[in-house]
Amino acid sequence: FLLATQPAKRLARLNIELNSQLVNVRQLFDVIDSPETEPREDEKPALKVDRANIEFSNVAFAYRPDEPVLRGLTLTAEAGKVTALVGPSGGGKSTTLNLLLRFYEVGSGTITIDGQNIADVSRRSLRSAIAYVGQNVFLFRGTIRDNIAFGKENATDEEIVAAAKAAYAHDFILSFPKGYDTPVGEHGLQLSGGQRQRIAIARALIRNASIILLDEATAALDSESERQVQDAITHLTEGRTSIVIAHRLHTVTHADCIYVIENGAVVEAGEHYDLLRRGGRYTSFYRLQFKNQELADQVIAMSSAG
Ligand code: ADP
Ligand code: MG
Repeated sequence: FLLATQPAKRLARLNIELNSQLVNVRQLFDVIDSPETEPREDEKPALKVDRANIEFSNVAFAYRPDEPVLRGLTLTAEAGKVTALVGPSGGGKSTTLNLLLRFYEVGSGTITIDGQNIADVSRRSLRSAIAYVGQNVFLFRGTIRDNIAFGKENATDEEIVAAAKAAYAHDFILSFPKGYDTPVGEHGLQLSGGQRQRIAIARALIRNASIILLDEATAALDSESERQVQDAITHLTEGRTSIVIAHRLHTVTHADCIYVIENGAVVEAGEHYDLLRRGGRYTSFYRLQFKNQELADQVIAMSSAG
């Protein structure tokens, strides 16, 4: 009986820690099946995080045989910096994060963190170094306090409030009659998309993980909420190695390095203005996203002049 409940517990933990978008059927089976694979996994040494420098080197991967998704992807997410991934839908951006979290193993090539091949360290140690904030934030049944504190065992009230403040969640939390004791999740108070994301960011902040992975929301947040989520993200990524899948241009413009990913490979890389000057794929992407065409053209022209 005990044996049967262990995987269920692990499953629950995984489900809470990760965005539901990432947890598909295959991954559920990975976890349920883990009693067999676990001993091997447990023999692996723990990841030792120093500065959290991440390197993908010539990574190839396919979910199904003969349908390659990543084709020799090479990129570096430098320690303490923000690395943005942009590009057309289906290009392989989310898959890149799936592989870094080891929901799937690479077909060929390597992913290293501070020089250690992630395939050679335990999944548990790998995932404990990473905080993930995705598009569909999972809130479990409990209070707002519980949902934030989930990021850290024995979190104190001071720590919870500090994390909520840094995530721009404190004020809206206090606007509820029960404040931090407000029940959320199933049958609880329905929070807006932006509020849920800020709770997830507070949870990630309290964990103090070295690596932050963000799959930005495409769902239209209202502009006030979007701004606050953006500011919360700025706090979260400060001094941490961050990989951000950006659907919105503000995040991208501030990134230390932007990779344009198409068809499972990097087609362009650099800082925002460098890429605009180049007038390649990134520039087309920028034009496409920018609502004010004239202004976009002016910015591009200015970059080329400068
Ligand atoms: P992006 O995040 O850039 O939009 P994804 O990494 O989500 O792209 O997807 C890349 C390709 O892999 C797409 O063709 C997508 O249909 C496919 N894909 C993504 N996840 C799965 C999965 N779990 N099983 C099978 N195919 C998948
Ligand atoms: Mg995606």
